[in-house]
Amino acid sequence: MATYNIKFEPEEYYHYIRVLEADEEFRWCKSIKGCGAGQLVSNHKKLHGYYTCHACSQMMCFHYSVEWHTGYTCKEFEAEQAKNEGFASYIIILTSK
Ligand SMILES: [Zn+2]
Ligand SMILES: [Zn+2]
Repeated sequence: MATYNIKFEPEEYYHYIRVLEADEEFRWCKSIKGCGAGQLVSNHKKLHGYYTCHACSQMMCFHYSVEWHTGYTCKEFEAEQAKNEGFASYIIILTSK
């Protein structure tokens, strides 16, 4: 997976963050561990819905930008979430690792 390490001066940083966030391939790591790393997921069309954070190795759902919903497709996950708010964090904690 291609990853990019980008370092900027503080005043440049916020500008580039906005540019990155406008990129459809860019994702923040929303790991419950509080990772917060960002990366461009350039191969997302070839993925089966998830990618791995380059910083903490957490599996992330590319579509929903949440920790990977192990055992559920994005559609099933969406349906479960619609029925039960908070479903995401529960199922992911219980099923990861
Ligand atoms: Zn991470
Ligand atoms: Zn998903």
